[in-house]
Order: sequence, then structure tokens, then C-alpha cells
Amino acid sequence: MFLNRLKKLKSYKTETTPCKVKLSSNELPFDLPEDLKEKISKEIRKIPFQRYPDPNITELREILADIYGVNENNLVFGNGSDELIQLLINTIGDLKKPIAYPIPTFPMYQVSADTIGRDKVEFRLNENFDLVKGEIDKALERNVDIIFYASPNNPTGNSFNSDLIRYTVDQNVFVVVDEAYIDFSDKKSFLNEALNEDNLVVLRTMSKIGLASIRLGVLIAREDIAMEINKGRLPFNITYPTQVIAKVVLTEGLDIIRENINRIKIERDKLINELSKINEIKVYPSDANFILIKTPNGDLIHRKLIEKGVLVRNMSHIPYMENCLRVSIGKPEENEIFIESLREVIKENF
Ligand SMILES: *Cc1c(COP(=O)(O)O)cnc(C)c1O
Repeated sequence: MFLNRLKKLKSYKTETTPCKVKLSSNELPFDLPEDLKEKISKEIRKIPFQRYPDPNITELREILADIYGVNENNLVFGNGSDELIQLLINTIGDLKKPIAYPIPTFPMYQVSADTIGRDKVEFRLNENFDLVKGEIDKALERNVDIIFYASPNNPTGNSFNSDLIRYTVDQNVFVVVDEAYIDFSDKKSFLNEALNEDNLVVLRTMSKIGLASIRLGVLIAREDIAMEINKGRLPFNITYPTQVIAKVVLTEGLDIIRENINRIKIERDKLINELSKINEIKVYPSDANFILIKTPNGDLIHRKLIEKGVLVRNMSHIPYMENCLRVSIGKPEENEIFIESLREVIKENF
């Protein structure tokens, strides 16, 4: 009886089939260089392991504020942006009022709402996976308190129409712009607007730019808003090792991160070009570190690619994503293997 609500929940599954080429989780394919790992090891050795970490994340806060060009008090830290999404859903607005998001999108909004039994309003994107004003209006009429926009969106790869994001901010609703992939995009960020609004926050994460292992996400908001949201955060949610590692990488490894982002953007554009030469495949545009493709048979191609040692994310079972696969950009040689394998699978089966 006590577990009834939990029994109704589905557990969150990610693809774990071990494969030689892993292009399924939108991670950066490049590990940190050895000399940087050496520096990290030295700093890790200095940690007093019996002590709690700095609850205010002071030093890392200064470094990230500087990188984003904001004040230290504009930031709220999360154990990944997943935790910040959960924090917002647990604390913003009237918990009896629903959250809203366009679909298809990042599943964590739905997962976090279901965990606390908060209602959801899901609304449609158009055939290019972009926002539609009428759909936003219909959602707003249903009394929603928060809207989540992942832009660039996962799993579709495109950025949303920024005028319609702005339009939403001008309504009576709290808007979260999740910019997990903004580093791979040349489109506009809402970071500066978030500094001027009381109903707009931006989410960023280290996960897609090479530090998925340490779980570090950041919320950026006006100081007074950030201060309130910060009250809902658990005091020691950013571990000592995470703070130490992020400090080293974000001071001594920034050039490497920037270089890696550029490499991914170049590889992405090459891969889009190669994919668009395959007649059986529809390629969607991407502002992110992955590409969405529509295939003649998603389940089959997904399975056959695994047999060839290539793991991509199968989106076929998700509404409006029939036969779609999501492919993260890997190292050049990995992308080569993927496109070769895909060509073979299509030749053998269609
Ligand atoms: C990957 C992803 C995140 C999760 O980031 P973490 O910081 O690893 O929790 C958030 N939003 C979107 C849209 C993502 O794709």
C-alpha cells in the first residue's frame, strides 16, 4: 500500500548494450588528455575525504560566473541538470497545477513530474519539430505553471523559434529554457534575457561537453530568483570531487573543451552531408551533438547496427518518432564505421 505510487512508475532505461562504437547517449567522444588527468589526480589527493564539500560551491561558482559573463549569485548548481529539472518541478508554482512541454522532447520533464504526481500538459510540435503558437496557447489555457523548452531540442536536434519562446515568457507562466546543447549551436541563447526576467531561467550542463561523469548542471537566473530557487537545493549536492575536477578542467582545460566542441560541429556537418546521400534516409537539421534520422525500419536497423558493433538510440517507440534513430556524433573513425555499417544494413535489407 505504501508503495502504490512507486509501483505505477516505470524505471528510466538507457541503452546499455555494450558496443564497440557507442553513439547513443550524446556524450562527447573525447576523453580528457593525460596531462589534465594528472593535474586532476594531484588535486583529488588533496581532498580531506572525511569533510563535507563546500555547500556554496564558492570557487567553482566564481569560475563559471566568469565563463558565462554573469554574477556569482545568478547561479544555482545541480547534480546534473536533471536534478535542477526535478528541483523546479518540485518547487515552482502551485504543485496542483500542471507543468507543460512540447513533444517529442527530453523525457526527464515527464519522469520528474510523474515521480511527484504533478500533472503534465504535452503539446504538439509541427512537422519540422518547431513550436506552434496555437499549441502553446492551448497549453496555457490549461492553467500550467511551468513550461520546459529544450532548445536545441533532444531528440530532434533543432532549436525552437526564439520569437515563440519570447512570446511564452511574455505570458503568465514560468519558462525554463534547457540549453544542454547550446554550445553546438549558432542560434541565440536566452541567458541574457533570463537575467532580466522573473519568470525565465536557463539550464546548462557539463555533460554534453566532456564531463558527463562528474554530474554538474547549472541554472542561470536573475539574482533574486536564483536565491529563492537555491533554497530548494540539497546543501551538499555537488560532491567534493566534482567541485575539484570541474575547477581544474574549467580553468586549465577550457581551450581543449572549445576545440572539442568545434571538432564535433565539423564532424556533424560532414555526417549530415554523408547521410543525405542515402536515399532511404531522411536527415533532420541539427544544432546539437547528435543527428536525428528517419529510416525505412527503425527497430530493424537499430538491431542490425548493434550486430555490427554500433549502438545508436532507437526512438521508434516514441510518439511522432516512428522509425527514427538518434545518432550522437563520435570520433571521425567512429562516424566512419557508423555510416559504412548503415550503408551495408540498408543495402542488405531494403
Ligand atoms: C542530456 C540532457 C540533459 C541532462 O543533463 P545532465 O546535466 O546530464 O543531467 C538535460 N536536458 C537535455 C535536453 C538533455 O538532452
